[in-house]
Amino acid sequence: MEPSASITHASAARGRFAPSPTGLMHLGNAWTALLAWLDARQRGGAFVLRIEDLDPDRSRPAYVAQLLHDLRWLGLDWDEGPDVGGPYAPYAQDQRRARYAAALEALLARDLVYPCYCTRAEIRTAASAPHGPPRHEACPNRCRELSAAERRARAAAGRRPSLRVRMPARRTVIAFEDLSRGLIQEDVAQAAGDFVVQRGDGVHAYQLAVVVDDGAMAISHVIRGADLLSSTARQIWLHQQLGFTPPRFGHVPLLIDQAGQRLSKRHAALAIAELRAAGRHAAEIVGWLAHWAGLTEQPEAVQPRELIGLLDWQRLPRQDIVIDVTALTVGR
Ligand code: GLU
Repeated sequence: MEPSASITHASAARGRFAPSPTGLMHLGNAWTALLAWLDARQRGGAFVLRIEDLDPDRSRPAYVAQLLHDLRWLGLDWDEGPDVGGPYAPYAQDQRRARYAAALEALLARDLVYPCYCTRAEIRTAASAPHGPPRHEACPNRCRELSAAERRARAAAGRRPSLRVRMPARRTVIAFEDLSRGLIQEDVAQAAGDFVVQRGDGVHAYQLAVVVDDGAMAISHVIRGADLLSSTARQIWLHQQLGFTPPRFGHVPLLIDQAGQRLSKRHAALAIAELRAAGRHAAEIVGWLAHWAGLTEQPEAVQPRELIGLLDWQRLPRQDIVIDVTALTVGR
C-alpha cells in the first residue's frame, strides 16, 4: 500500500451543515452552522452544505433559496452544496432517495430490516400502556417474527408497512468520544429498539438518510445541536451495518429562551431575515454567536473568518445557553 496516499485521505477532514428547509433560518441554525463551519475550517477541511428536504410535507424550495442567501450573508461559505455541486452530488436529500432505497435493499438482503404492519393507533396505544412508558415507539405486534406467508397475507390485505431495523436481542453498546462531552456509551438495543427507517408512506426516515449521506459523502466530523445526541448511537450502529466508518461527533449546546424553550422557528423575530430587516448587521449577529461560544470576551462585531482557530472544544459550554430574546430583537 502507498502509505502517503492513505495518510492524506485519513487527514482530509470533511464537515457539513445539514439544515431542513421547513422554515426561515433562525439564530439557532446560524449558531450550529457557524460552529460546524469553524470546526471544518480549523481542520483545514472541506465544508459541505446538504439540504435535508426529506419530508415532502414540511420542506419548501423557497426556504432553500433563503437559507443559502442567509448563510452567505453571515459570511459562511461551502465547498460543496446544492448550488455549487461537488464530487458527492446531489446535495439535496429529495434527489437522493434511490440511494436510501439501495441501502434498505442491502439491509433487507441481510435480514437486518423487516416490515412492520402496525398502525399508528396500535403503536400509540402500546406507547401509552400503563406499565411504564417505553423509551421508543416499539412495534407492539411482534412483526419481526412474522413468517414470509404471514407477511404476504398482510401485504395482500393492503397494509403498507413501515420498515424497522432488526436490533440484536442482546446488549449492543455503542461507545463514542464526543468532541464536547467526552465518552458516551449507550445500549442502542435498549434505548432505540427496532427503530423505523422507512415510514409506511414510503418516506425514508431521517436516521437512515443522514447515515447514508454522511457515509457516502465521506463526512469525518458531524457538528450539530445537542438535541440530536440521542440519535447518535443508533446512527453509528447504522454506519457499521452499512459498512461505513462512522464520523466523529461534536454536539453543541442549544440556545434557549428565558422560558427554557429551545430557539426554533417559533421565535419568528430571531429569523436571520427578520434580524436583517430590523437593521442588524451580519457581523453583529456573528459577534453574539462567537461570544456565546466563548470565543470572544465581548459580543463585538466580527467576521466568521476572523474566528478561525478560536473554537476550543474544551471551552465550549456544555449547558444550554439562555438568550435574552427581547434584548436582541428590540432596536438599538
Ligand atoms: N436536518 C437536521 C435539522 O435541521 C439536522 C440533522 C443533523 O445535523 O444530523 O435539524
